[in-house]
Amino acid sequence: MHEQAPRFPLTRRNLLAAAPLVAALPLLAGQPAFAAGSFPEPGPFPPRAALLTYDDVVKALGDIERTSRGAVAVHTLAGLGITPGVSEAGRDLYVATVGTGPIKVWLQGRIHGNEPYGPDALLAVLRSAGTSGSPLWKAVRDKLTLHVIPMYNPDGSELYIRHTVLQDGSERRIDLNRDWSPTGFAAKESLAWYTYWTQVKPDVGLDIHHQGLKYDESDEPITMSLGISLAPSGPTLPGIRGGEYDIATRRLQGHVYNELKQYGYVNMDRYSVGGPREIDIKGGVSSAVMLGLDYNGLNPTGHSHPMVFFETYGGSIGQKSRGKAIKQNVLGVEALLEGLATGDIWNTDPMIWHGIPHQDYIGYLTDTGTIDGWPTQGPVG
Ligand SMILES: [Zn+2]
Repeated sequence: MHEQAPRFPLTRRNLLAAAPLVAALPLLAGQPAFAAGSFPEPGPFPPRAALLTYDDVVKALGDIERTSRGAVAVHTLAGLGITPGVSEAGRDLYVATVGTGPIKVWLQGRIHGNEPYGPDALLAVLRSAGTSGSPLWKAVRDKLTLHVIPMYNPDGSELYIRHTVLQDGSERRIDLNRDWSPTGFAAKESLAWYTYWTQVKPDVGLDIHHQGLKYDESDEPITMSLGISLAPSGPTLPGIRGGEYDIATRRLQGHVYNELKQYGYVNMDRYSVGGPREIDIKGGVSSAVMLGLDYNGLNPTGHSHPMVFFETYGGSIGQKSRGKAIKQNVLGVEALLEGLATGDIWNTDPMIWHGIPHQDYIGYLTDTGTIDGWPTQGPVG
């Protein structure tokens, strides 16, 4: 295992030190500094009144666009000419762009409607990216172009359910993170976002989720799990582009891990599902983009890119945990963007991934069931 963090160039440190994190998060302003290891215990129910509604997100996007004085542009997919460009229930789908750089970054939240804080984190990031004059955010705007999707699933968010609901009379519930399939898309949202994705052709992506509460070996809550929907060294990822994304995804998450572990209240591990299994699904958005999904000739060149996800603790945590759940996501996104803007993220040791705390995996959860054992690759670490 390679537990030791690489030394970073001074320039990166300077960028990070200059990042005005508190200014990026007005809802946290005035709170005392967080003590190490003091992530509050979750309550049994989500503080529903504190969750952003669809209307809240639309209003916040408009406010950010106005105050950014031209830096942030807010679009609806319908407004961009995409058909269908709305959700199953007919809601407009919103994306905001900021930056003029050549590296295109796709940031999405709340694909699962009952995983609530992706929008809070991404709106905070968007606000900083659009308005901050700090070296970090200047570099982000100069080197990157962000495509920020705070609420991928507005219908499920309004219903506070994981899925969207088909409006074809069946009322069938569709998990949008299993719906980017080579045979087509069950929900309008999926085809709309996929169509936009084929137009953007991003270089890298991030998807923000929540998971249930789990504890580490010391009975401390895990506050964030770092994951990739096609397991590194698993059945699928090493076979894509000669293993390029297997290495790239581990670098992305290894960089985030190194940056976030300095914060005492952030306690990370690697994501697992179904007991001690890693996820390896092909219909998830972050999987399909790595596989270069070409549906109906919309992606004829087979464009693809690496993508990872954060699983923040607490789809159902209480108010006290909320601020920290959001803040750790903001810090994680900032670490990712800073690494991409400087390019240093691609110098990260991919073996850091294997040193992130994790269960002793016994296999994989795939689209078609579990695979135990290691069908194509040995476990690395
Ligand atoms: Zn989720």
